[in-house]
Amino acid sequence: MDHSHPPVPVVIVGGGATGAMVAWHLLRQRPDLGKHGVTIIEPRHELGAGQAYGTHDPQHRINVPAARMSLDTQKPSDFRDWLDLDALAAIDPDAFLPSGDLYPARAQFGRYLAARLAPYLETGRLRHVRGTLDDVTQTGTTWHLSVSDGPTLDATLLVIATTHPAPSLPAPLTTLEHDKRVVSNPWRDDALARIAPQESVAIIGTGLTMADIVASLSARGHKGRILAFSRRGLRPRAHAPQASALSDVLLISPAPTALALLRNIRASLSDHADLSWHEIIDAVRKQGRQLWGSLHTVERRRLIRHLRPFWDVHRFRIAPQVDRVLETRLAEESLALKAARLINAEATDEGVTLTLRPRGGTEETHLVDHVINTTGPDHAGIVHRTPYLRALAALRVVEPDPTGLGIHTCADHHARVGMQRIANLLIAGPLSRGQFGELMGLPEVTESAQSVARHLAALLPLTPVLIPDEVEP
Ligand SMILES: Cc1cc2nc3c(=O)[nH]c(=O)nc-3n(C[C@H](O)[C@H](O)[C@H](O)COP(=O)(O)OP(=O)(O)OC[C@H]3O[C@@H](n4cnc5c(N)ncnc54)[C@H](O)[C@@H]3O)c2cc1C
Repeated sequence: MDHSHPPVPVVIVGGGATGAMVAWHLLRQRPDLGKHGVTIIEPRHELGAGQAYGTHDPQHRINVPAARMSLDTQKPSDFRDWLDLDALAAIDPDAFLPSGDLYPARAQFGRYLAARLAPYLETGRLRHVRGTLDDVTQTGTTWHLSVSDGPTLDATLLVIATTHPAPSLPAPLTTLEHDKRVVSNPWRDDALARIAPQESVAIIGTGLTMADIVASLSARGHKGRILAFSRRGLRPRAHAPQASALSDVLLISPAPTALALLRNIRASLSDHADLSWHEIIDAVRKQGRQLWGSLHTVERRRLIRHLRPFWDVHRFRIAPQVDRVLETRLAEESLALKAARLINAEATDEGVTLTLRPRGGTEETHLVDHVINTTGPDHAGIVHRTPYLRALAALRVVEPDPTGLGIHTCADHHARVGMQRIANLLIAGPLSRGQFGELMGLPEVTESAQSVARHLAALLPLTPVLIPDEVEP
């Protein structure tokens, strides 16, 4: 590794929405950061897309109205203002709802973030190193970063923003990992390419990715039988017909235990029986950080174990267009949702036979042509399964969060190991939600990115270390 150049001031690992927004805010707050003031390592061509907004399927829509997704809390309608509504109406009239809400394809949000970063890339203040960070070593306070197919970099401050790893296959399916009828990663562009219109499909998971898959299959003319199952069989709820700002004024009392918090939420629901549950859940979400902060680790774990599935389906709502597709297919009985656990999977010439144990029922088998895994990103195993995080764990500068949600993080965004705060390593976005609680939807991710950028801006010396031009790869 060539260490002859001075280290670059800030390197962000991961250029999805989080990494892009941290860079944008930092560069705005610190105009003195000159050429290569911020570097993002990201294998995708575009910055801002990431796992969520990198999809090319027009059926995959944002699940929060466009007016609530912005890279800047000071300009909440920035994304909506950026959209060219005439052009959108021509290519995607379904994006517009009678209520006035707008739910365009998720790729539009990725394009918006890329457009906001473009001026910084053009001036060279932001550098995009295309590649995957594979390994990290450290000399003194300098990080040495090995990027696949890219340059090696030395950095002063490192920010981790690689939120969503691919899903892991449930244990009974691992022996069929290479079977072409089993789709282990539903986010691949070619995930549905082999499925013919009349073929039957089993989907493991009943969350938002299941809904995306059903919408994509239906748009391709798929008419075959779909069975979607998860342990509780819960599916994401629809948005309220009319949004309201009442959740800004509703207060939910914090509680020291998961059970007491549940009671407080239930009490709010019955005290405000005139309101829809959406308002109460939105109020909980807005006070999420404070409510989470009142719980000790044991109670946080308890909440995750018992309440999270219910929280997720009420809090992560579904785009109305996608909900309509689900409703239609359920009514036509070409889609069935089941609460069941996968016990066994066997591949034969006829298809894949799944043995399920329905909740409270006896085992049953289903022969299907294809199986799609939508169990969600493997956040719990991220430190041990990701090579560069494993390297950081070996250096004793990162560890999994004690709740199992991502990476252990201090309240000021620094990585934490035991009682030690790591001065030159920060965790941005949903990987830090063990510390902050509710931090997954874009509005919270924006707040978190702004806060990380503010913190970085304060850490950097006022006379920045500028990189000589010849370092450019
Ligand atoms: C499928 C999906 C859809 C969603 N839709 C919405 C929505 O509509 N509305 C909403 O509010 N929220 C949505 N969310 C929630 C989402 O978590 C946030 O909105 C946000 O997009 C998270 O972005 P991120 O940059 O933190 O993570 P990611 O999108 O996971 O981006 C991380 C980036 O890191 C890169 N990376 C990974 N490993 C490495 C490495 N070793 N080296 C370099 N780079 C690496 C990846 O290529 C990726 O681009 C969605 C989430 C998912 C998974």
